[in-house]
Amino acid sequence: MAKTATKRTKAKAQAQPASKPAAALDQITTHFRVAEFNCHDGTPVPSASHPALKRLCELYLEPMRERFGVAQVLSGYRTKAYNVKIGGAKKSQHIYDEHVESVAGDVRFATGTPAEWAAHADKIAKQVGAGGVGTYIDSRFVHIDNREGQARWSGFQG
Ligand SMILES: [Zn+2]
Repeated sequence: MAKTATKRTKAKAQAQPASKPAAALDQITTHFRVAEFNCHDGTPVPSASHPALKRLCELYLEPMRERFGVAQVLSGYRTKAYNVKIGGAKKSQHIYDEHVESVAGDVRFATGTPAEWAAHADKIAKQVGAGGVGTYIDSRFVHIDNREGQARWSGFQG
């Protein structure tokens, strides 16, 4: 068991930040963090919805990111109050508290068009046998959620 001097010197230089465990929890899949889906009013994603969010990222967002490039999450979780404030749909899938098994994300990718993103998400949703996909051509994003049953629409609001 010969220890090398170089290993000891390196360990000394790397002080671990105190927030390390929280950061590890935040990284939900390879390219997505829970915090990216926090409500715009600062409220974090409810922990009861983390498993559903992980499914959304694994099933849809990671494969789509591989195809279309870096993803920007425009809107994820919304508190009921925030959803009212921005004029969101009354039964919006963005209000994770009301259906912890289904979460929504409004996402834009580096390449491709909203129609192409929606077509890709639609294909996945059909394979899964459930899911909502909204196409927002004017605002250039796609809404994806993992609700029970299928829903498709085009519109101006997320
Ligand atoms: Zn949406």
